[in-house]
Amino acid sequence: IVDRLRCDDTGRVPFSVEFTPPRDADGEARLWRTVREFERLRPAFVSMTYGAGGSTSDRTVRITGDLAEATTLLPVAHLTAVGHSIAELRSMVGSYADRGISNILVLRGDPPGAPLGEWTMHPEGVRYADELVRLVRDLGDFHVGVASFPEGHYRSPDLQHDTKYLVAKLRAGAEYSITQMFFDVEHYLRLRDRVAAFDPEQGAKPIIPELMPITSLGSVRRMVELSGSALPAELETALALAAGDGPVEDRAAVREIGIERATLMGERLIAEGVPALHFITLNFARATSEVLANLGLGATQPVRN
Ligand code: FAD
Repeated sequence: IVDRLRCDDTGRVPFSVEFTPPRDADGEARLWRTVREFERLRPAFVSMTYGAGGSTSDRTVRITGDLAEATTLLPVAHLTAVGHSIAELRSMVGSYADRGISNILVLRGDPPGAPLGEWTMHPEGVRYADELVRLVRDLGDFHVGVASFPEGHYRSPDLQHDTKYLVAKLRAGAEYSITQMFFDVEHYLRLRDRVAAFDPEQGAKPIIPELMPITSLGSVRRMVELSGSALPAELETALALAAGDGPVEDRAAVREIGIERATLMGERLIAEGVPALHFITLNFARATSEVLANLGLGATQPVRN
């Protein structure tokens, strides 16, 4: 992944996209249409999430494997520790290797009912993500990324603690991090400064900002609650006004604000020298493609091979 985080000949910053394992056959068909749309735009990599509580492990492995075998894309498989013994985690990593996947985003995962649910370690599992980074690195030639949190992880008592344990994951062998979504660029810039001040060597590793073009007020409110990120008051007010008072929110008006916000954030982040932009797509291509077009990113010619 790190090797792919280079601007192209025209100085354009790379981008990447996140998919989630579909729930049913219709969802899978839609995912594949979305995958083919993005394939034409040539992302640096694509990532596939791992359902909360390890709930989608089989689908994550199967579809990420299919992405590796049936597309020109470079997939990154998410792997979470929650609910798994070390033996199961080893076996999952083995399944990824069998499907030709060597890039893994290592996460602790959330317990059911997060963010409120208590974290309980599997009796034969790992407690924190840095242990899983070491485990995966010891299993073979894997390239590992981890999560970072511009506003601090919701279980971190303060940002100093948060930075210390992010750096622990990087020291354990992670080569880069991808951030939680955020809606104020300042949070990202402060995270970058904190890591660089704490440990300049680890601070040199790429911190890839994650953007989510908002297309629904209801869904961003739910996601923000689960992620521990904040929706800035001015943005929430603008979205609520656009959504209107009716029983069904005005999705077109909300979407317009969401696309504009993601575009402005992307412009500022690029100006600040980010290594790439990573987009949460929810398995839809349109919103992210619009932001990419606004930013002048992504190949414009179809890929023929
Ligand atoms: P950790 O790094 O282990 O940190 C968890 C908390 O413990 C933090 O507060 C940290 O500061 C603290 N901590 C860490 N080590 C120590 C230590 N040694 N001593 C004391 N405290 C410590 N979840 C999913 O279920 N599936 C996914 O696919 C998924 N993808 C994600 C992708 C990205 C880019 C991000 C940002 C998050 C993703 N998540 C996913 C959510 C993630 O699993 C949760 O946020 C989880 O609560 C934290 O995971 P972590 O790997 O950061 O945990």
